[in-house]
Amino acid sequence: MEPAGDPLRRLREAFRAGRTRPAEFRAAQLEGLGRFLQDNKQLLLDALAQDLHKSAFESELSEISISQGEVNLALRNLRAWMKDEKVPKNLATQLDSAFIRKEPFGLVLIIAPWNYPLNLTLVPLVGALAAGNCVVLKPSEISKSTEKVLAEVLPRYLDQSCFAVVLGGPEETGRLLENKFDYIFFTGSPRVGKIVMEAAAKHLTPVTLELGGKNPCYVDDDCDPQTVANRVAFFRYFNAGQTCVAPDYVLCSPETQERLLPALQSAITRFYGDDPRSSPDFGRIISEKQFQRLRGLLGCGRVAIGGQSDASECYIAPTVLADVREAEAVMQEEIFGPILPIVPVRGLEEAIEVIARREKPLALYAFSNSCQVVKRVLACTSSGGFCGNDGFMHMTLASLPFGGVGASGMGRYHGKFSFDTFSHHRACLLRPPGMEKVYALRYPPYSPRNLRLLLTAMEAHSCTLL
Ligand code: NAD
Repeated sequence: MEPAGDPLRRLREAFRAGRTRPAEFRAAQLEGLGRFLQDNKQLLLDALAQDLHKSAFESELSEISISQGEVNLALRNLRAWMKDEKVPKNLATQLDSAFIRKEPFGLVLIIAPWNYPLNLTLVPLVGALAAGNCVVLKPSEISKSTEKVLAEVLPRYLDQSCFAVVLGGPEETGRLLENKFDYIFFTGSPRVGKIVMEAAAKHLTPVTLELGGKNPCYVDDDCDPQTVANRVAFFRYFNAGQTCVAPDYVLCSPETQERLLPALQSAITRFYGDDPRSSPDFGRIISEKQFQRLRGLLGCGRVAIGGQSDASECYIAPTVLADVREAEAVMQEEIFGPILPIVPVRGLEEAIEVIARREKPLALYAFSNSCQVVKRVLACTSSGGFCGNDGFMHMTLASLPFGGVGASGMGRYHGKFSFDTFSHHRACLLRPPGMEKVYALRYPPYSPRNLRLLLTAMEAHSCTLL
């Protein structure tokens, strides 16, 4: 590990020298990233299992294959994404060349959290490298085993003059943030997001903030409770609930709550057996600190399912809390664990009211046999992303932007959105050196006739007259 100042200087010099700009160089970095994932698959699976007791199934699905998919997509489309984008012109610019050039920002900092420690580090990295930036990666210090692989193995696959891993927790990251970066991409909590944005503001550095929050899940009376329970349980308890887009709480009528409870119990038993603690498919809480926080939330509402915990292995059973009231602690913070509160509401309109008076979430879910109901929830609310009749499947599509709105963050990525996020969109107009007689219309002495001509020529719509 180098002291922070040195790699930054080295990276900036490499960027200034233009090293990262050619498409061949970018492709070579992306290929290196792909090889890193292939060559070290078992090492990564082991690290994720050590950090989060993550099953190979969940790790392959949500960490390795998503990262590999992003690498492949970027490699297939790199040249098309890099191309100047021609734009419509007006009469005044008909002889000119008008286009948007996607330029790399320069030196980019990516700060990642611990819950998907590979995915949330590498997926932004794909965008940053494809866009031709030099990158400093700051993985989470909490997911120690994955951090070690990223620090010790990943750099061997990338050009070290343009890429560095900096390690550390809040203190070291705070010091790192004192440096001037050209772009900062942060994934983590809203609390630290504010710290990052404040540090970025000192240098006027643009930021993407991928934050968390409480994702509502409305369940309509008109639904098949078992299908809904399977889907909600799967997405709530995936990675032991430590997922920023997991359904955080259910809103439904008291009658639907009573139909959902046995269905949720059945889903949990089918997924994880009678004793989820012995299931190889159920994860653990990342740390003692998070475990204690979550255990404190188990007193809310009425424990209808689960509720057991074991500090010695940071285990919290898949839990459902029924009859939870909005004022209770479990409804005041992002849960980020395997606890699902059900908050009874009178019906759809009250559910929409509850959602609308809270901060805008990262994701929102609505389950109903009626597409009118799903569409009404969509139309009357706002969130980073939305999925009707399922959990966070919307974020598996690289053709959809992923990101928050309001308190759940700003900016977007995945697929081409990542490339665009890490590129400055430079407005370019190349004009002919001659034509001075025509252009002279704009010079003083001004006349009403010339003003009329100019206003007509500068109308915004595309013109094919010339
Ligand atoms: P966190 O905010 O505590 O930490 C994230 C990163 O910031 C880590 O690398 C950490 O080292 C660094 N950091 C922590 N404190 C800092 C400080 N004072 N100054 C500078 N840097 C600091 O988040 P976490 O606990 O790692 O992750 C959980 C949070 O992340 C949840 O809120 C979750 O919703 C959110 N999250 C969001 C997304 C998303 O895509 N929107 C994805 C995953 C997690």
